[in-house]
Amino acid sequence: MNQHYKFEIKPLPYAYDALEPHIGKDTLTFHHDKHLQTYVDNLNKILEGAPDYQGWTLDELIYRQNELPESIRTGVRNNAGGVYNHFLYFDGMAPASSTKPSSELENKIVETFGSMDDFQAKLKQAALGQFGSGWAWLVSDEYGNLSIVTTPNQDTPLTMNLCPVMLVDVWEHAYYLDYQNRRPDYYDNWFKVINWDEASKKYASCIKK
Ligand code: MN
Repeated sequence: MNQHYKFEIKPLPYAYDALEPHIGKDTLTFHHDKHLQTYVDNLNKILEGAPDYQGWTLDELIYRQNELPESIRTGVRNNAGGVYNHFLYFDGMAPASSTKPSSELENKIVETFGSMDDFQAKLKQAALGQFGSGWAWLVSDEYGNLSIVTTPNQDTPLTMNLCPVMLVDVWEHAYYLDYQNRRPDYYDNWFKVINWDEASKKYASCIKK
């Protein structure tokens, strides 16, 4: 992502109640307006005191994190990751049944995982298996090969040289108001509001022509 300091929150690309009943209005309001805003504010505060890095894009702050001074490295890792992951997550959802995968993405998912149902089950296994807070991802390499990975906290697959296609937030704040401790129910409902148009676009852009 090409944004750099000073980072700003983007409005949700749909209404706060557009994903109901799968993801509730209160969940989206707190998650977007409070949790994401906090990551944006924290990242800006860190960079305010580190002018040398104010020109770095969000992507650079993440994949060049080892070049950052130690004093800000962990803060940038957590908060730039938090901004990056949440931008992708909110863009990655859409009202149920309003989008569909490209044939390119669907064919590759079927080839890789066996069927769309198998893919849904395997990503679920990863999402439920992420101990504590983190994310489960569908990622691609530059040749279009798909795989599923998980990351703890606000880490991203960028540092593994993998390109995000879709991701599910499994921090409790993503589902507690709707599902309390029931991460499996949240996952099943999140799967219904995947923005397949966006995932298809991301997948196409991951492949180096
Ligand atoms: Mn979150």
